[in-house]
Amino acid sequence: MNPFEQIQSHLSKAAATLNLTPEEQAVLMEPQAKREATLTVETSKGVQSLPAYRIQFNDARGPFKGGIRFHPAADQNEVTALAAAMAVKCAVVNLPLGGAKGGVAFDPKQFTREDALLVARAYVRAFAPYIGVDKDIPAPDVATDAGLMAVMLDEYEAVVGHKEPGMITGKPIALGGSQGRATATAEGGAMVLAAYLERAGIAVDSQKVAIQGFGNAGAVMAKLLHDAGYLIVAVSDSQGTLYAPQGLDPYQVEAIKQESGSVIAAADSEHEALPAETIFTLPADIIVPAALDNAITEVEAATISAGIIVELANNPVTPTADEILFSRGVTIIPDVLANAGGVTVSYFEWVQNRQQYYWSEGEVRDKLRSIMTDSFRAVADIAERRHVSLREAAYVLGVERIIEAMRLRGRI
Ligand code: NAD
Repeated sequence: MNPFEQIQSHLSKAAATLNLTPEEQAVLMEPQAKREATLTVETSKGVQSLPAYRIQFNDARGPFKGGIRFHPAADQNEVTALAAAMAVKCAVVNLPLGGAKGGVAFDPKQFTREDALLVARAYVRAFAPYIGVDKDIPAPDVATDAGLMAVMLDEYEAVVGHKEPGMITGKPIALGGSQGRATATAEGGAMVLAAYLERAGIAVDSQKVAIQGFGNAGAVMAKLLHDAGYLIVAVSDSQGTLYAPQGLDPYQVEAIKQESGSVIAAADSEHEALPAETIFTLPADIIVPAALDNAITEVEAATISAGIIVELANNPVTPTADEILFSRGVTIIPDVLANAGGVTVSYFEWVQNRQQYYWSEGEVRDKLRSIMTDSFRAVADIAERRHVSLREAAYVLGVERIIEAMRLRGRI
């Protein structure tokens, strides 16, 4: 199954549960607009022609919203899948936003930072007619960051001839970014996990956690869970896994990774260095995929010892693995809920930009906690009532809200 087919299979399950008509299903399953361009950019390695996409999936609930990724494998199918997931995610946490996603087939690791800044500007010039504070609001995703959002804002304002800080989120604080945005994805994941454990009557203390990926989402999650009393027994990055059955200190590991480039540089008598692919085979109560799509296939699903999986990454579990894990009684807190803290604080940034009045970090965290815990409760209630997984319940909730908005608008 390709990435979009995977999301469509989740959407059709929800559509069947909600008894949608074939016409309603057909409208739900396809993007409203597929924008494509070829960016011509004069880089340090000569002129590049880069395929670029902006897929606008559904805007029944509000302006389109979704990140832009720079990745050599970015293509229309992958970006469409991510756009559909964004529409569902925004609806699950009840934001007044639709879903979109952008991508450029470009590998920033092969180019200079100046080249990436030029690609960012070219992207905005190509899609300027279709984006904007009330139309479609981009944000960072894989290999894009606050600095690139800053030049995208600058380029957009040059094109339209006025200030419009809310046209993009994930900006540096100095240009209207929100407090708490950089840590929001992991914060939201940790809040939902805490709500799940409380409901299940499981004490946080010493729950053993293994985290795949030690980047923006994974490293922050490791530190938050460590501070909350969980035992982090393993973390991994593309170079390998660091395993410490007695628990490791993620702050120390982060400092060593910053110096040496990988978590495995922290190996010593109490911390074992293992191959990257061993992360899900280690004994743990909770695993957190925070790196790659399709990281957990039927192979991993058959042997995982953990009872809980928190999907900080997008799409980390294949549909077959999902079914195996459900039948084995493993609880998956799905990506459309577990990593929705990122888009929620992006929404806060957009709100603050519109009112030009900025909130403290504490206000952001309190508002995030109330959205994440309320959303978890709504999803868990549906799962209990319908005897379905949290993923199916989240898709039912998200799709129901999108369909309601489409019906009210007379689109279906
Ligand atoms: P990142 O680039 O900061 O970190 C990714 C990490 O994964 C790096 O440590 C990298 O070394 C590691 N990695 C790569 N290949 C690996 C492998 N084979 N085994 C183990 N680790 C490997 O990216 P990020 O922003 O942390 O995003 C990670 C995931 O979370 C992505 O799926 C992204 O879409 C999702 N996500 C991120 C955010 C956010 O706000 N950052 C929001 C929603 C979803």
